[in-house]
This record gives sequence, C-alpha cells and structure tokens, in this order.
Amino acid sequence: YTAAADQFIAGPTNAEVSEADRSRVFHSWSAQGALNPLPIAGGSGCMLWDFDGKQYLDFSSQLVNVTIGYQHPKVVAAIQRQADKLTTIAPAQANETRAKAAELITDIAPEGFNKVFFTNGGADAVENAIRMARLFTGRDKVISRYRSYHGNTGAAIVATGDWRRIPNEFARSHVHVFGPYLYRSEFWATSEREECERALHHLERVIQAEGPESIAAILLETIPGTAGIMPPPPGYLSGARQIADRYGILLILDEVMAGFGRTGEWLALDAYDVRPDLITFAKGVNSGYVPLGGVIISDPIAHHFDERVFPGGLTYSGHPLATASAIATIEAMREEKIVENAARIGADVIGPRLQEIAATREVVGDVRGKGVFWAIELVTNRDTKEPLGAPEMGKLKAGLLERGLLPFISDNRIHVVPPAIITADEAGRGLDIIDETLAAHRP
Ligand code: PLP
Repeated sequence: YTAAADQFIAGPTNAEVSEADRSRVFHSWSAQGALNPLPIAGGSGCMLWDFDGKQYLDFSSQLVNVTIGYQHPKVVAAIQRQADKLTTIAPAQANETRAKAAELITDIAPEGFNKVFFTNGGADAVENAIRMARLFTGRDKVISRYRSYHGNTGAAIVATGDWRRIPNEFARSHVHVFGPYLYRSEFWATSEREECERALHHLERVIQAEGPESIAAILLETIPGTAGIMPPPPGYLSGARQIADRYGILLILDEVMAGFGRTGEWLALDAYDVRPDLITFAKGVNSGYVPLGGVIISDPIAHHFDERVFPGGLTYSGHPLATASAIATIEAMREEKIVENAARIGADVIGPRLQEIAATREVVGDVRGKGVFWAIELVTNRDTKEPLGAPEMGKLKAGLLERGLLPFISDNRIHVVPPAIITADEAGRGLDIIDETLAAHRP
C-alpha cells in the first residue's frame, strides 16, 4: 500500500483536513461541538490510510458496506467507462446498464422475484417496500423488531426499534415486537428453541391484539445488524412467515446490511427456510462505491402494479454510475469467489478466534455471527450482563485505532465486520489487535 499512500502524503496533513472539516461540515448523528472524525486520505483492499501516512486495517467496512474492499480495479474501471458514456439518466428512461444490474440482482434472489425497484440507498428501499406492502394489502400498520435499524427517513426510522427511533407522523401505524435474542432474552428462555417458540408466540399475540386486518407487513432484518448481529434461531423466520400467511400479512426481509455476501451467502436469507414477499438491499450490492439500494419484488406484488401506478421514485433512482458499479461488483464477487471467502473466513478464522477471546477475556459477555458479520458484546460483569458504558467503549476504540485497527463500535459491542475479501492473515492480525486491546483494558 505504500506507493499509493505516498501520493496522499504529498497532499494536506491530518490537522489541515480536520480543521477544514470542522469549520464547514455538519455531521450526521453527532453533536457538532464534540466531533473528532478520523481523517482518511485513501484506501486499497482492506487498508485505509490517513493524510499523515498512518495505516488502518478496516474492520468496519464503513458502516458495513465495502464488501469488495477499497478501489477494486474492475469496479473503478466500470464506473469510469460508464462516466465516459453517460453520467446521468432519469428513472423514466430505459437504460441497458440499469436493466443488466436488475437482471444480476434478480438472479441472486429466490425463484419468483423478477423485478427490482432501484433507490439511492437502504432507507428509501425500506420506505418503498413499506409503501408497496400498504398499497398491495390495503392495510396500514407495520410490525418490526425492537433492536433493529432500518434507516433514517420517515417510515424507516419509525420502523427502527432501538434508541435511534424518532417518533414522527408515521409512528401511529407502527408496532414493535421483541425478536429472539437469547443472550438478553425478554422471554426468560434458556435455549434457542424456547426463545424461538416464545418470540413467535409473542409476535402472533401482538398481531391478534392489534387486529390482523390492520397489518400490512412484518418487517425484519434477516439478521439484525446495527442493533447487535443476532442470527435468528432456526425456525424463527419460517415461523414468522407462517404467522404472516395465516393473517394475509406480507413479510419484508431487510437485507441492506446482511445481504450481498456479508454472511457468507449471497443473501442472508439463503441460509434459512424462508421466502419473503419483498427484499430490501443496498450497501454490499456495489460496496457503496456509488449510492444505490432497492427492493427486489416477488411476482404477485410486481403484477399488482401492472395496471396501477406505483407512486414512488426519486431523480437519481437507478443512477447509471451506481448500476454500472453494481454489475461490476457482482461479477467480481462471482469471479473472485468473495462470498465463499466470507463464509470460510467466518467459519475458520473469526468464529474460532472470537470463541477463544471470549473464553479468556472477562469483559466479553457474548460473541455471535457468521461470515464477516460478528459482534463481541462487552459487559462489566458476566453474571449481571451490565453493558460496558460509553466512556469505556470510547477508551477501547482509541486503543484499537492506536494499534492500527478501524473498528465499528455500536453501543457496548465491537462489531467485527471487515470487507469480505479479507485474507486469513489480515483477519488474524485484526483479531490479535482486538485481543491485545481487550487484554490491556482495565475497568
Ligand atoms: N436497513 C438496514 C438493515 C441497515 O443496516 C441500514 C443502514 O445501516 C439501512 C436500512 C439504511 O440504509 P442507508 O443508510 O443506506 O439509508
């Protein structure tokens, strides 16, 4: 990485970039006075570097996004080729790049999903999936989980179930349920099976109490991501499907974070015996090289809009630079067997090593995940499971950065979510840094 890094070192310094950023950029999800964003000058593969030449192994994938790593040459070239040809086109026009991206995406989806509605990212994918479900069923309410994240726009932020939820005008038609999460079971369950059965019972009771005829959709992240990476127990998603069918409710699976290779499957749902009605995606579809998301639509819902107008779409939906990058990303993932790599690294390197770390570091309460999608849950006391507080998490983050690892920290968890191209050596190096940092941690 050194040659590429040199080129950036010749530019501005960290201090100059930080100062310019602080003076003009208003940051998301932040109190503006307390900002200290990490300056990043460039990247390659799983590595990033700052303007002073310090390198970081990226264990965050930039909000769990950059599956194929930084500056993949085939994807960069595809964006450049498309930029030479046509840099923008409105959603109403037909364009071969958009059609090809839709074809590759539906090829990945289960049988009977043949249409893609493109959006600019994950939140508007969720917005539009909810809108489709409401128009299709003629019903209003949506059920989603506490401990979920679905995006930061109108209906998506209301659907979100963790502390980020912001009540707004959509809130009245939204209901939350507890999903399965054995480590902090809301159901006094002591096994995955019990947790699953009770979570499904709870889901059905809430539907009955709310009035099944008022509910359009159950919206679930296939594996909740930002809220804690909790792979569902066997039977939960298929059980939710059965309950949905019993009451004429649609099932939307949100694959924005878990989809496109992250779990070691093309779609996270491939590992479960479940068939949703709508699938939302973004992030991994093109590693976020250009903003892109969408909804993969099952045939009955797509046909519902054959004679009816679907009232949705934004100026940039299905942007040619974005869809060109999606084609190149999916092709590169196939050719380079990146999804298989994610599965192997998860099973052979990350999973076993995290179990070892959990066994030796008292501060670790739980580890869970698959592929390149893992969470380490940190606690002050293993019996009470008291979450490690924000100041302690801040110190751990500083320790990880100091040692050259860029982490994804969410509440009391370190999420181990590197690019899916990561090698066993790189993954081992990052896990060594995490272990060393946890070992140095003093309460
Ligand atoms: N859905 C899920 C499961 C997500 O993880 C996210 C973002 O992290 C979103 C939706 C929102 O995506 P975006 O930030 O692209 O709008």
